[in-house]
Amino acid sequence: MSSNSPDFFGQLEQQLQQREDNHLMRKRHTLESPQGARVVVAGKSVLNFCSNDYLGLANHPKMIEAFTKAANTYGVGGGASHLVCGHTTEHHRLEELFAERTGRDRAVLFSTGFMANLGVITALLDKPDAVFEDKLNHASLLDGGLMSGAKFQRFLHNDMSSLQKRLDKTEARRKLICVDGVFSMDGDKAPLKELAAIAKNNHAVLMVDDAHGIGTLGKTGMGLCEEQGLTQDDVPILMVTLGKALGSFGSLVAGPDVLIDTLIQFARPYIYTTSMPPAVAAASSQGLLLLEEESWRRTHLQQLIDYFVAEASLIGLPLMPSSTAIQPLLLGDEKLALQWQKTLLDHGLWISAIRPPTVAKGTARLRITITAGHSTEDIDLLLDVLKKLNRSTDAGAL
Ligand SMILES: *Cc1c(COP(=O)(O)O)cnc(C)c1O
Repeated sequence: MSSNSPDFFGQLEQQLQQREDNHLMRKRHTLESPQGARVVVAGKSVLNFCSNDYLGLANHPKMIEAFTKAANTYGVGGGASHLVCGHTTEHHRLEELFAERTGRDRAVLFSTGFMANLGVITALLDKPDAVFEDKLNHASLLDGGLMSGAKFQRFLHNDMSSLQKRLDKTEARRKLICVDGVFSMDGDKAPLKELAAIAKNNHAVLMVDDAHGIGTLGKTGMGLCEEQGLTQDDVPILMVTLGKALGSFGSLVAGPDVLIDTLIQFARPYIYTTSMPPAVAAASSQGLLLLEEESWRRTHLQQLIDYFVAEASLIGLPLMPSSTAIQPLLLGDEKLALQWQKTLLDHGLWISAIRPPTVAKGTARLRITITAGHSTEDIDLLLDVLKKLNRSTDAGAL
C-alpha cells in the first residue's frame, strides 16, 4: 500500500462518509420512557409505530412484577454459563412451559435470537451438508448458514419451485431448509404447509424462525405453526424470540429430544456465554401465560391491522401485501424514505425508514408496526398524516 493511502481508521472514515453520502447512515434515538404506543424521544412525546412489542407486554404490570419477584429471589446476574452453574429454576421453567405450549418434546433457552440461529445451524451442519434459505431470511439465519461451512443456497422468496430446483441438484448428507415464519421487513408469511411437504419429500428438515409470529398468530398465540396447523413432525425445528411480542428478551428453540441434546452439547453460542439474568427468564414465562390470559390483545391487534389495511388501500398508500403487524410502505428511494420519516416525526409519529443493505436496493420503505397498545384513534392519526404525505410529491412541502 502506498504511503499516501489512508491508514486503518482513515479507511473507516471514508466508509462512513460514503454511507452518509448514500443516505444510508443509521442513527440511534434515545428513548426516555418505557416501550409503549406513546414514547418520549428527545423530550417529546410521540406515537410509536416502529416497535416490535406487538402485544404491549414490555411494560405490563404483571411482567414487571414477575421480573422484580425473581430478582428478589435470584439477584441479578446469571453468574456462569448454563453448563457450569448458571442454569436456574427460572430458566428451566421457561423451557418446559414453552415445550408444553407448543407441543414439542423439549426446548432450550438462548440469550438472544441472533445467537440461537447461529448456534442451531452451526451445531447441525458441517461441510458435507447443505442449507437452503429464503432470500429474505433474517441476517442471523443467513449468517448461521454461512458460518456452518455447509453448502449455502438461497432460493427466491416464498418460491417453492426455486427451492425444489436446488434440492433436486444437491447430493448433500444432511439438508436443512430455513425460513422466517413472518418475514421481518415485508410482513408476509412463509407457506409452511408447502415447505413442510417439500422437506419431507426431499429428506430435508424444516427450521422456522417465528420471531414475528409467536404471540401474534394462532388461536393460543403460539405463532404461525399453530395458525397453519403444523406440528413438531412438520416443523421439527421451531425458533422464537422473546424480545418482541413476548415483551421480554431472549430466544427459545424447540423440537425433538435429539435436537435439544445436540444443541446443549454442540451449539457454541449456547455453551460459551453467560446465562441471561433469571429475572428475564421469569418475565418471559409470565409473557407466555399472558398470551392466554389476555388473548384480547391478539384480537384487538388483528382488528387494528385489518382496519389499517382497509383504510390505507382506500387512500392508495403503497402498502406491501401483508396481513400481519408489520405493514411496510414501499417508497423505493432511500432519500424519500428518510424524508417521510422526518415529516412523520415532525407530526409526532415515529416510524423507521428501512434502507439497504437491510432490504434490496430500490426497495427502501417505512416499516410500520401496529401493536395492541394502539387505539383506532392512533391509527386514524397515522392514516391522516400518511394521506397528506402521499398527496404531496415533495414531503418537505407538508
Ligand atoms: C429479531 C429477530 C431475530 C433476532 O432476535 P433477537 O432476540 O433480537 O436477537 C431473529 N430472527 C428474526 C426473524 C428476527 O426478527
